[in-house]
Amino acid sequence: MSRKKIIAGNWKMYKTLSQANELVSAIADGINASTLNAEIWITPPAIYIHGLAQQFGNTALRFGAQDLSKHAEGAYTGEVSAAMLQSIGAYYSLVGHSERRQYHHENDTLIGDKISAALSQNLMAVYCCGETLNEREAGNHFNIVEQQISTALFRFSAAQLNQIVIAYEPVWAIGTGVTASAAQAQEMHKFIRAIISKQFGDIAAEQIRILYGGSVKPNNAAELFSQPDIDGGLIGGASLVADDFLKIIQGAN
Ligand code: PEP
Repeated sequence: MSRKKIIAGNWKMYKTLSQANELVSAIADGINASTLNAEIWITPPAIYIHGLAQQFGNTALRFGAQDLSKHAEGAYTGEVSAAMLQSIGAYYSLVGHSERRQYHHENDTLIGDKISAALSQNLMAVYCCGETLNEREAGNHFNIVEQQISTALFRFSAAQLNQIVIAYEPVWAIGTGVTASAAQAQEMHKFIRAIISKQFGDIAAEQIRILYGGSVKPNNAAELFSQPDIDGGLIGGASLVADDFLKIIQGAN
């Protein structure tokens, strides 16, 4: 079976409102919907989702959040719930990005709870995982990723997995300009698919989309996306520049 690729931009904490509108306009204008081979997901700061989803809702673009609360509602100052995101037109949320793990001490148990919250409101969840440089250099990268995935995802059913996308993002490649080679990325993606197959069965493993993230740029996107187990990318820095993001999208064709 063929899996539809996803090219997802993660804007992190960049762009004012007018800059956000300008960037999405340029992306929407630059996409040729008739030849588009991938889904295009854009992850702006959460406060822009509502306006962008309204303004660009009839384009090929989908909008999502960078994070969400594990709680349904309550006295949790500063948090945003899955129901709130759903109600403003979000299609998905990232969960467990390495910057959330690093700066907000999120672990895979909490991240699994956040995925539950997303699924309960019919949001897709993009589960981010990946090893640090030390872990790779120590030869532990497969163990670490297996542990992350089993803690965060094994509580779900194969049917629920339809609402989950995995993003393999080696921490040493995020925002560093160092990309995993296509062979390194493919090796890990194949391993992740095997983990999913063992736990959830072959059909779930065939269907789940596994994105690569970590310094994807116009000059390396096509090679990464042509690997058999790489179903697109989660793009940070290069998603902030319309031309670069559009070239990366072309790399999925
Ligand atoms: C990311 O933020 O998920 C990411 C992969 O960033 P960059 O593309 O800048 O490495």
